[in-house]
Amino acid sequence: MRTIDDLGDVRGRRVLVRSDLNVPIQDGVIGDDGRIRASVPTIAELAGKGARVVVCAHLGRPKGKPQPEFSLRPVAARLGELLGHEVRFASDTVGESARETVSALADGDVALLENLRFNTGETSKDDAERGAFADALAALADLYVGDGFGAVHRKHASVYDVPSRLPHAAGGLIAAEVGVLKQLTEAPRRPYVVALGGAKVSDKLGVIANLLGKVDRLVIGGGMAYTFLKAQGHEVGRSLLQEDQLDQVRGFIDEAAKRDVELVLPVDVLAATEFAPDAPHEVVDATAIPADREGLDIGPRTRELFAGRLADAATVFWNGPMGVFEFDAFAGGTRAVAEALIASEAFTVVGGGDSAAAVRKLGLPEDGFSHISTGGGASLEYLEGKTLPGLAALED
Ligand code: ADP
Ligand code: MG
Repeated sequence: MRTIDDLGDVRGRRVLVRSDLNVPIQDGVIGDDGRIRASVPTIAELAGKGARVVVCAHLGRPKGKPQPEFSLRPVAARLGELLGHEVRFASDTVGESARETVSALADGDVALLENLRFNTGETSKDDAERGAFADALAALADLYVGDGFGAVHRKHASVYDVPSRLPHAAGGLIAAEVGVLKQLTEAPRRPYVVALGGAKVSDKLGVIANLLGKVDRLVIGGGMAYTFLKAQGHEVGRSLLQEDQLDQVRGFIDEAAKRDVELVLPVDVLAATEFAPDAPHEVVDATAIPADREGLDIGPRTRELFAGRLADAATVFWNGPMGVFEFDAFAGGTRAVAEALIASEAFTVVGGGDSAAAVRKLGLPEDGFSHISTGGGASLEYLEGKTLPGLAALED
């Protein structure tokens, strides 16, 4: 993969940078700004070299048309604060505002285009529609730098189609992320333990299937654990459950046994009366969840069990919170796993937007981990062994 240095002298050149600035925003206020901060070094490097930097990114899932609640405008302000340099904001993606904003840039200036997903061409499955949008984006710049790791698993115009239209390189963030994931996939030091949690089993089934042939131990918590408990024949009450995935999960349990992969599941949970921050709750055995309760976190015995099964690892990949960490009462399991990783001497990688946000929300030191990835889906698909469109496009 070419790096920014391979682009030669960028002074005075318009460089389109695809960043991942997809941060939580409520009522115009940015929550966790980790992805913005992770995007700063590449933008600052290019601006420092005198490039005219045109940053583009998406936010949330607008339906291919402008929707004010998905505007990147607050992100432009935050990015400017972090860069220590004003970021000009274009109020459209490839229209008049974008063209005027870009042509007004001086060497070393930075602009941010409005949310790419305000244009249907960005995510279209139709190559021609995506290509037309990519043409318009490419016309705004002389060079392209791909740095939005969190979006490289998407075959989207700004990620996949623009690089083939401009001389291109990978930014520092993508280079760093790929370097870490290579260490996990090529020759991980053993024991290699993967801890999975979070809400969407279906998103993570592919990675489980692939990891069964690679890891020594699989620790499963969070919302996905209940589908595993149910697959083992236990009642899970009103806990998160993916009924349609039960057969596949049963297959994984058998496969893990065959391959001698240790599968570590919760032994107790915090069973709550409802999904709410102040819901009354009690510790119950994972095999005896009352029918009218839902498990919102792993219990105290499970925290100890998981910490113990992480302590002797040489390599750990952790994706997905162990409970509903957004509610303080149900953040203890996620904290316990994060603290076990921080205490460990292992090569520790955290992947997943919510997992990374949890680390910061709990006030834990980010440098306590070897690496915190900015990409959840992207890092999982990489570990699955899939070809990621945004990385393939940068290779060519
Ligand atoms: P990541 O972004 O790190 O990949 P996911 O998006 O898969 O993680 O899942 C994160 C979400 O999972 C969080 O919002 C958290 O509240 C939720 N979650 C974790 N445990 C549970 C649970 N027991 N019940 C319901 N939701 C859960
Ligand atoms: Mg998530």
